[in-house]
Amino acid sequence: MVEKEIRKRRFYGIVSLFVPGMGQVLSGRVVRGIIQFAFLILFLFVIKKVWNGFNYGFVAYIAGIIFYWLYVAIDAYGYYDRRTAPCEKACPVGLDVSGYIDLAIRGEFQRAKALIYHRSPFIGTLSYICHEPCKRWCSRRKIDMPLEIRAMKRYVFENAREFSFEFKKRFKQKIAVVGAGPSGLSCAYFLSRLGYEVDVMDAKEKPGGALSEFIPEYRLPAQVLESDLKEIFSSGLIDFKGGVVLGKDTSISELKSKYDAVYIATGSWGKRKIGIPGEDKKGVIHALDFLRWIKKGKIQKIYGTIVVIGGGDVAADVARSAMRLSVHRKVVLAYRRSKSEMRIDDLELSEIEEEGIEIMENVVPVEIQGKDTVEGIVFKKTRVENKVIKVLEETVVSDAAYVIVAIGQKVHKISDEIEVFSDGRIVVDENMMTSERGVFAGGDAVRGPSSLVESIRDGREAAKNIHRMLHPVHFAIEGFLYFMPIHEKPKILLGFKKPAGEHINPLRRPYNERVKSFDPVELCFDDEKAIGEGSRCLACPFRYN
Ligand code: SF4
Repeated sequence: MVEKEIRKRRFYGIVSLFVPGMGQVLSGRVVRGIIQFAFLILFLFVIKKVWNGFNYGFVAYIAGIIFYWLYVAIDAYGYYDRRTAPCEKACPVGLDVSGYIDLAIRGEFQRAKALIYHRSPFIGTLSYICHEPCKRWCSRRKIDMPLEIRAMKRYVFENAREFSFEFKKRFKQKIAVVGAGPSGLSCAYFLSRLGYEVDVMDAKEKPGGALSEFIPEYRLPAQVLESDLKEIFSSGLIDFKGGVVLGKDTSISELKSKYDAVYIATGSWGKRKIGIPGEDKKGVIHALDFLRWIKKGKIQKIYGTIVVIGGGDVAADVARSAMRLSVHRKVVLAYRRSKSEMRIDDLELSEIEEEGIEIMENVVPVEIQGKDTVEGIVFKKTRVENKVIKVLEETVVSDAAYVIVAIGQKVHKISDEIEVFSDGRIVVDENMMTSERGVFAGGDAVRGPSSLVESIRDGREAAKNIHRMLHPVHFAIEGFLYFMPIHEKPKILLGFKKPAGEHINPLRRPYNERVKSFDPVELCFDDEKAIGEGSRCLACPFRYN
């Protein structure tokens, strides 16, 4: 659908390149087209009148006209007068939020989904677990409450039909992507969309990366990820090769010799240790292992107190998953700073407390007690002074049957063939290219643990940079259009003179029900609620006062 839209706009752009303004006229912006055409004629007329041979002034004037001419052609491609909404600016992939919300409340789910696909695959996954940087900047916050943007995306995802892409192979070059997580697959998706064949390889037997390995079911049901993956692979231009480890089964030099470009997105799977006595006892588990075992069904029930060390999203996932399996309903989340400084959003923090997880603030673990297995954990109290943590003498002891370490991941050094920082992250230039020409890298492998939407952005940018390297002329003439924003002009929203409606929260399962299973916590809006909430959008790109 978006491909059709791109073809249409490309046609308008080319028409305007030959007859300035005509593309605008054909796309229905008649007055704009006529004015642009008139301006160009006026400029040319002025040149004709005052022409007295070549000089610097005339060269600059002619360059100005050429730029204006190009601007008119690009404008015909699809840049109508609109501002970038704050939500769109805050979104790492720049989703046209007001556009898809408007389409959703009009029931045009396929178009809404296609609009999101233009900037990001993983629509279902984003609609369940995106951390919504957009929401923090939503203009509606100034009036009452920000829009429930992720919930609106979920409404689109749940109501749109499955996509099956029919991208055509247009280039003979083949690209290798190492790492089948969100960044690698986003890169593969955008390359296939451009017409490249892509081989995606991963150490695991299945694609999905961290999404399929670690994200608990109550946040991201397996069938949602599967649906995204099915659509990403639907064009047939992306091939998956599982069980391939970079540095063991293949090397960067081998990939370089077989493929025309390589994108490395191997993620951050290294486990950080606390470094205290007793950490090697039975019952001390790293967060990633714990989450993976739960997903594989290896842990059914947990007896005794579970102490989780950490204050970020992974620690939250661990604590909430542990609570769902805890027989004694005793889970403690211990963090070295205060609760308000945890890197967990407010809603999740309130859910953690509702579910009965005890938060122990301002403590650092100093020793894990027990003979061979964990029996308790000793903490020292802390105080934060000028953002620096000061460890105090006062100690606190907690009983513990398990200690789950969720203090972050690190990046494994993946190869000696490319330059890396001392912490294992890959060194890249401004075009995401590594020290080896033709080898690009992004996602967690470059920036360390990052969000889903940032990883998707990296994958998209890498696809753009690879295309520019392989086909610079094609990219300059036409290819860049694939990466330009496609926007939808809201129809219904524009009709609102004043912001209307009350904020509607998506329904959540009651806490006593949700801790008994891994069923999703947040429920999808029904039609009435989605229309009510979506109608609150101010359509910021078109609201100039
Ligand atoms: S009101 Fe709508 S367009 Fe404006 S920032 Fe919020 S979601 Fe975006």
